Amino acid sequence: MKTKYIFVTGGVLSGLGKGITAASIGNILVARGFSVFMQKFDQYLNIDAGTLNPAEHGEVFVTDDGAETDLDLGHYERFINVSMTKQSSVMSGQIYQSILEKERRGEFLGKTIQFMPHIVPEVKQRIRQAAESSQADFLIVEVGGTVGDYEGLHFIEAIRQMKLDAGRENVMYVHVGFLPYLEVTEELKSKPLQNSVTDIQGFGIQPDIVIARADHSVPDHICQKIALFGNLSNDHVIPVTTVDNVYQVPMILEEHNVDQMILDHFDLKNGQTKTHWKDMLKKMAKPKTKKVIIGLVGKYMLMKDTYLSVIEAVKSGALANDVDVDIRWIDAEKLETGDTFQLDKVDGILVPGGFGIRGIEGKILAAQYAREHKKPYLGLCLGMQVATIEFARHVANLKEANSTEFDQNTPDPVIHIMPDQEKQMLEFNYGGSMRLGAYPCTLAIGTQAHKAYGKLKISERHRHRYEFNNNYRKILEDKGLILSGTSPDNKIVEVIEIKDHPFFVASQFHPEFKSRPNIPHPLFRAFIAASLDHHKENNR
Ligand code: GLN
Repeated sequence: MKTKYIFVTGGVLSGLGKGITAASIGNILVARGFSVFMQKFDQYLNIDAGTLNPAEHGEVFVTDDGAETDLDLGHYERFINVSMTKQSSVMSGQIYQSILEKERRGEFLGKTIQFMPHIVPEVKQRIRQAAESSQADFLIVEVGGTVGDYEGLHFIEAIRQMKLDAGRENVMYVHVGFLPYLEVTEELKSKPLQNSVTDIQGFGIQPDIVIARADHSVPDHICQKIALFGNLSNDHVIPVTTVDNVYQVPMILEEHNVDQMILDHFDLKNGQTKTHWKDMLKKMAKPKTKKVIIGLVGKYMLMKDTYLSVIEAVKSGALANDVDVDIRWIDAEKLETGDTFQLDKVDGILVPGGFGIRGIEGKILAAQYAREHKKPYLGLCLGMQVATIEFARHVANLKEANSTEFDQNTPDPVIHIMPDQEKQMLEFNYGGSMRLGAYPCTLAIGTQAHKAYGKLKISERHRHRYEFNNNYRKILEDKGLILSGTSPDNKIVEVIEIKDHPFFVASQFHPEFKSRPNIPHPLFRAFIAASLDHHKENNR
């Protein structure tokens, strides 16, 4: 089957769940037996999301092939269970970079470089490449921003032209907009969404489906109005009210027959509905008898999206253990005062990834507390590095041990930049100096990591500059640190554990990126199981 394109645009305002909607469309098509690949366009002039501020933009998601992307790619992977690639994330900066490189190479000799005919075809080229390399039945492309932003015009124009290029029978447009609620008159207002449909029509795109997002239930007459003025049949305006659990959205779309609508649009007959997420949603909704409290020690307390994949992985681990989970935010900087009462109250301690020195001593203290109080600990990337520093300082008596990220002159750089890496850093720019993407890892027999995974060969995603310093392997191992995972050639330490501890596992990689709501990640499942045991022992 020739790849079918579904383009998802947004209107009225950003942050209304366009990514979740796009991912949910993917989900219901996967449920009908089709293969799906996804792509996100972002208007920023950055080359990738790696240099964006996580406090503003949320987490940087990492793909197997090492792309640093917008967090929407995490939604895509969780909703369709397909690994995204570099081709899934396109920022305007990449488009311009590639055009300007071609200009310098003389590929446009004698010509002026213009939006049209140069920028738009470059965008279309990315779309076609993603379709060709994925060979998917459907390519769903989410256009970031809202229709009418002048920064996004090249994307809108490219998706308009795709209908001419790929044939109208192969293209569909879905527009997602918001219905604001007016408190005084207690009603939802449809005008902004109507206007945004008019806007996109003005760019030559007639939406085939409009998704009307709202925080309140949407009366039929509102949908009818949007349909009438938007040139759509009534049933093609789909109300999607805000839900507490985003994994319900595919079901809401199915309830409104969106899967069938899409198949009809493309004249596709096959594709039986499979029982898909229904069991998972039932399991999620079922009241649980137990609850574990997980302390997440971080520094971006006001922006929960910074740890989006970590939180989703914790929830998935909890679901697998059939328990509720209460994730408590513990501000690493506040811990630095030495007051650990917040840590007393949790059943498990999780230190996620991070960059920079702020809050580091608090994170080290959290690792120390977990080790000394035998509380389950899961360290992710930076969480592994602080656990190593803590162990070196307090168990191996290397009092000033540190990572060279935080102290260039430490006498004991237990975490450092590997010598051959340093050479690379001199050659590349700062933005390109990290170990990124999936790397294989071999686990040691009988370790907690081995028990959790149930196998010895794993592959996990990375995003960091610093590594465990091999000169300290023996010193720390002699004191009871277990190197439970290394690169297959044994040159890089990937997982550490602590002897005689119920659960203390910390990885140099980021396992959270591979967790799915219904396929828990082994480390998170084991961490929650250990936290549950801890909870029981303490009769909470
Ligand atoms: N800052 C650390 C490093 O660069 C850890 C990075 C992370 O946690 N992703 O190695």
